[in-house]
Amino acid sequence: MKYIFITGGVCSSLGKGVCAASIACLLEHAGFRVTLQKLDPYLNIDPGTMSPFQHGEVYVTDDGAETDLDLGTYERFTQHASFSRINSVSTGQIYDAVIRRERAGGYLGKTVQIIPHITDEIKARIKAAGKGHDILLVEIGGTVGDIESVPFLEAIRQFAFDVGRENAVFIHLTLVPWLSAAGEAKTKPTQHSVKELMQIGIVPDILMCRTLHDLSVEMREKLALFCNVDRDGVFAARNIDTTIYEIPQIYREQGLLSKVLSKLHLEHKDADLSEWNSRVRRWLEPEHLVTIVIAGKYTELQDAYKSIYEALMHAGAHHSAKIRILRVDTELLDGKTPSESVIILDGLEGAHGDFFGQVSGILIPGGFGSRGVEGMVMMARLAREKAIPCFGICLGMQVMAIDCARHILGLASANSSEFDPGTPHPVISLLEEQKKVMDMGGTMRLGSYDAVIVSGTKMAEAYGNIAVVSERHRHRYEFTSHYRPQFEAAGVLFSAINPDNDLVEGIELNGHPWYLGVQSHPEFKSRLSAPSPLFAAFVEAAITTRL
Ligand code: GLN
Repeated sequence: MKYIFITGGVCSSLGKGVCAASIACLLEHAGFRVTLQKLDPYLNIDPGTMSPFQHGEVYVTDDGAETDLDLGTYERFTQHASFSRINSVSTGQIYDAVIRRERAGGYLGKTVQIIPHITDEIKARIKAAGKGHDILLVEIGGTVGDIESVPFLEAIRQFAFDVGRENAVFIHLTLVPWLSAAGEAKTKPTQHSVKELMQIGIVPDILMCRTLHDLSVEMREKLALFCNVDRDGVFAARNIDTTIYEIPQIYREQGLLSKVLSKLHLEHKDADLSEWNSRVRRWLEPEHLVTIVIAGKYTELQDAYKSIYEALMHAGAHHSAKIRILRVDTELLDGKTPSESVIILDGLEGAHGDFFGQVSGILIPGGFGSRGVEGMVMMARLAREKAIPCFGICLGMQVMAIDCARHILGLASANSSEFDPGTPHPVISLLEEQKKVMDMGGTMRLGSYDAVIVSGTKMAEAYGNIAVVSERHRHRYEFTSHYRPQFEAAGVLFSAINPDNDLVEGIELNGHPWYLGVQSHPEFKSRLSAPSPLFAAFVEAAITTRL
């Protein structure tokens, strides 16, 4: 078993997650069984209760763990690695486990301390995450020098000592800033950051330097000398303006894979990226252009719908379609009369005059709370009336159900009981057992659930006529079953049903080119190498119906 530890220096947001995922991608394509783990220094048990404004998207694994969005990046860059709650560790979880054990008498009267008790708990979790794989990549959140990450750094130092240096490699991702006034790149911040690491006893084997331009030979030599790293262990992680999926190939060309393998005392193998690269090329040299509106409420945040943007990209690469995304903040539409001009007035870039004429598809994403929901209902209605392909995800499906109830079934005050607890027509509501335990975090349907697909539907077609599919969930409210006959009589199809509890998993509309909502979050399972079938079908509908 081999281990790769990835730390970050100088400042945050250098893209450690993408760096770790790209290395994992290379290793997997070279035939190794890899997996990844994120160690997050915050005290929250998990990001499930954090606002998207704080933390971006909450990613969900098959076993229902609510994790950091980096786990999504890991999944998207790998094909065979599987992820569960063991792959996402926070300081909160570590302390929680240690304190519980102390209360249960698990430490036999000893003084419980950061070293060894906290560090042992961290090391045990690293060990557990690696089981069944050849190589585990561990990303340490935060920046070296932060107080919060010290126990994690001490734990990985010990871990490498325990398993032997031939079985562990330390990669440090830093920033080499470009000073335009001086016309040169500066190595000093990296030197300081490595010094900081060395004080804790970690000597990095490989430096990944985020730079604007390439690193000159002199630069590499200087960094190697001052940071005590092999000359061929300094790599440039240049900014790229195309797509992050090009990074594995860029790293490969620089020889990063062979350097990592030799540091791990593994036999050299090359990574076969031909299929991967051809998908990237189909994205960069597209045959089609489609414009997709994301009608949501966290549209101003780059990371809040991260998996959705990525899943659209995967589907785009699959169909060789470039996807232009227009973000509509539906909160601005709340309370307005549905009309095209209202949407144009939102000041959408590039949307002049005939707004819907430019739109190939509308995607209504998930979310919590009533803000922006009326605007989403408006967008669902306009998509339905104007025969524009429309894809509702989780809250998006619920909004489609509300649109159908109000405007097809004529139940004008239909709503979800989440947004109007007193509505006479709660077409979306809580199940009885959920009502009893309405505390935060505890009542959500989380993780993978099966859905039986009704044949002959658009959903069945999208999934290639597979009878049962499994997608991940993160929600509390459900379609209220006793409204089903009324909806069906009005032309709504329930195209997927959960076999265990008979809950509605998907709805679609007869006679519309593609009006489909799912209770799940199919974006979480989409990968560049295996796009989500529903996203692929949505993008295909956007290409074909709007030609
Ligand atoms: N707020 C809705 C629910 O809890 C939808 C959740 C979501 O879109 N993830 O059911």
